[in-house]
Amino acid sequence: MGRESGAICNNCGVRFAVREGGGFLFHLLHCDGCGAERSIGFEEIGEPHLRYLKGLNVPYAMATAEHDRRVQEHYPGEPISEEKYHRIVEDLCGECDCAGGFRFDAPPRCPECRSADYRKDPDGQEIFYD
Ligand SMILES: [Zn+2]
Ligand SMILES: [Zn+2]
Repeated sequence: MGRESGAICNNCGVRFAVREGGGFLFHLLHCDGCGAERSIGFEEIGEPHLRYLKGLNVPYAMATAEHDRRVQEHYPGEPISEEKYHRIVEDLCGECDCAGGFRFDAPPRCPECRSADYRKDPDGQEIFYD
């Protein structure tokens, strides 16, 4: 689900690595102000993650399918929607140093000029980290 690829800023020309999506065990969010990354582990999220899994009718990921199925069958908490879950996770991530907030749908930004306008680096390597 997670992927890192090379990018070139359309505004200032700087090359940088863009990471999108999360992994099996964490989410990756970006600041809606400056584009800084914040990763948050499912362990750190705790109960809301279990309630979200319970609300899913399918495993969250193939690698965790066994765990996810056990949660769906046995976890006693009330299921929550993805929308509600995302809001809880965004709250848990707190505030960025720039006073922005970390959001699931905020784009990565150029580390130099903070532009979210970039193109794929044709010489860049694409790495799938799970
Ligand atoms: Zn830039
Ligand atoms: Zn920020």
